[in-house]
Amino acid sequence: MPWILAVLALSATAAEPTRIDATSLATAAKLRDLALTGSEAHAIVESLTTEVGPRMAGSPNDARAVAWAENKFRELKFDRVYTEPVSFPRWVRRHESAEILTPFPQRLVVTALGASVGTGGKPLEGDVAEYSNLEALKSARAEDVRGKIVYIGNRMQRARDGSGYSPAQAARKEGAAVAARLGAKALLIRSIGTDSDRFPHTGLGVDPDAAKKDPALLAKLPRTRSGIPIVATAIPAAALSNVDADLLQHMLERSKPVRLRLNLDCGFEGEYTSANVIGEITGSERPDEVVVIGGHLDSWDLGTGAVDDGAGVAIALAAAHLLKQNGVQPRRTLRVIAYANEEQGLWGGKAYAAAHAAEVTRHILAAESDFGAERIYRIDSKVGAQALGAIDQMQQVLAPLGIERGDNADAEGPDIRAMGELGVPMVALRQDGTRYFDLHHTANDTLDKIEAKALDQNVAAYVVLAYLAAQADGDFARAPNN
Ligand SMILES: [Zn+2]
Repeated sequence: MPWILAVLALSATAAEPTRIDATSLATAAKLRDLALTGSEAHAIVESLTTEVGPRMAGSPNDARAVAWAENKFRELKFDRVYTEPVSFPRWVRRHESAEILTPFPQRLVVTALGASVGTGGKPLEGDVAEYSNLEALKSARAEDVRGKIVYIGNRMQRARDGSGYSPAQAARKEGAAVAARLGAKALLIRSIGTDSDRFPHTGLGVDPDAAKKDPALLAKLPRTRSGIPIVATAIPAAALSNVDADLLQHMLERSKPVRLRLNLDCGFEGEYTSANVIGEITGSERPDEVVVIGGHLDSWDLGTGAVDDGAGVAIALAAAHLLKQNGVQPRRTLRVIAYANEEQGLWGGKAYAAAHAAEVTRHILAAESDFGAERIYRIDSKVGAQALGAIDQMQQVLAPLGIERGDNADAEGPDIRAMGELGVPMVALRQDGTRYFDLHHTANDTLDKIEAKALDQNVAAYVVLAYLAAQADGDFARAPNN
């Protein structure tokens, strides 16, 4: 490049390195050790799962969860507690069942995918057309699919970092759209989960952003009364538990056709306005600069949402509460957000980013806990080059928790993704996800799966991260690709 541009590029990146002072590092180490002796986190998630329980967005329990969160922030003596509205189309689940009619009649354990349309008030019957994964379905011939119930059988692979999820869940998010284009009458998938039991895994059955990126499709979508596009599946879509998927496959190996009956009573019903619930510890020196941590308040309806994401909400609340309990006031404001409706399209995170776009540069750092309740093993970041030394300083305080330094590339969580797209720097405290997808989006996501000690390790890591970000001299810069 011409020399003058090279000089400009250099000067743009040559900011003063961000540093954290020794007193703040020592205070963070003390807070870390206090968290390990027992935090509020387990009591918080016990309270949420007992007093509210399942809290699917738009359900009557959505409002009870918002009230619970406001009360909890106040009970824990946050300096400021408030809500911000989040509106979305309301999806409801009423009834779901499936059975094999021939060759060997048996009932199947099934659950509708989120955003699925129903079967029209009566059961639907059809022969099964089996595909090993979404790619195989994409290359199927319409004549083999037309009028059939498409079944996609891919099984999610177990991994500590959850890397098996994304390739497997393509069948859930895109399967109905692809099957409908080929003329199928319904979609069934093997649950996107790593367990072998009879709990089906629900989850969103559409990709709302794909629909919104296609202007022709977007123009055709029905809308709620305030004009929000409704993205429903094109055909009824449901997931079989992993063992019911095994059963179906054993029949398909023996004889074809296998004929199924599917009955789903679910669908969109008007619009709902929930809320992001926000609690703050006010900063002493720079109150208008904020460090954001949080998790999502909503859950699916099948379990009590202990692991997804009661744990994340509890970890963030308990970490901030530790500062209050110990009379530690951070220099910058610590903002804890319990996001609305993450599960059905990241509505809370998007609403927050839209509402705060004008003050986005005052967001110093954002992190989110939404990967269960097991221990954290790594810190990843997505920050400017001048802040890498400060992240290393944080990691040194995190090291006794068994947390290693990761890379500076991807550090998103679902609800902070929209903030990240506006350039807010991010840190991810990576949790062990080996067992997370045994429970994810099932009736088996309950409090007994959470170990209090593991939750305390998370709180210890979050209090170190949040406090040191609030104390840092210098900022974490715009994310590298913004
Ligand atoms: Zn979640």
